[in-house]
Amino acid sequence: MLRNMRTALMPLLLAALASAATHPSIEFQTRTGPLKLTAIRHASLMLEAGGKVIHVDPWSQGDYTGLPKADILLITDTHGDHFDLKAIEAVRRPDTLIIAPPAVAEKLPGVRVLRNGESMEAGAFHIEALPMYNLKRGPAEGQVYHVKGRGNGYVVSFGGFRLYIAGDTEGIPEMRALKNIDAALICMNLPYTMPPEEAADAVKAFRPKVAIPYHYRGSDVTIFARALEGSGIEVKLLDWYH
Ligand SMILES: [Zn+2]
Repeated sequence: MLRNMRTALMPLLLAALASAATHPSIEFQTRTGPLKLTAIRHASLMLEAGGKVIHVDPWSQGDYTGLPKADILLITDTHGDHFDLKAIEAVRRPDTLIIAPPAVAEKLPGVRVLRNGESMEAGAFHIEALPMYNLKRGPAEGQVYHVKGRGNGYVVSFGGFRLYIAGDTEGIPEMRALKNIDAALICMNLPYTMPPEEAADAVKAFRPKVAIPYHYRGSDVTIFARALEGSGIEVKLLDWYH
């Protein structure tokens, strides 16, 4: 009987394993255990630490098959590659804490609003919202793609480890002034954010221990890596478009 059941379950188990999405990931050590970062796609990522799951900017272009649902959901901006209701529904539970800037909260009821410069505790995590915006790049003369104040970058702290998630931004003064960042996710795609050379220059200003390019479609991340050679800042390249 048992053996029959096992035989019957085996194809199901194998199917479950085969259908779980595999994504590049990296694990950091903190004072209170590991913090795992999984690169899902473009700006979409997942953090796992202390038995909790944080999804950031879930997007339907990412494969969420088999991934755990979110205890906490961080949204950076209103653009479709960051704010995707279909993907949010796929990763949220009824009790998921969704943290977002006011412009996103207007479109999604029940959100805990966090404005630029505000911070909060969420269980073992400390979450700080930072500005993210264009200094000069936009769709037309005198316009920018990302207006200051609309979107949030975040610093997520866990066990003394500080992870900076830049959001869609250029190398703004608020980024350059950051202190004590252990790992930084840095965007670098044109025309919306900044080229790899500018990203490297901004990173040299605040000197995270580790810099990880993300949101880089169309850009050559090796330019970023080469620009930081010998700087003492470790560059980790993950494939965000697998
Ligand atoms: Zn974007």
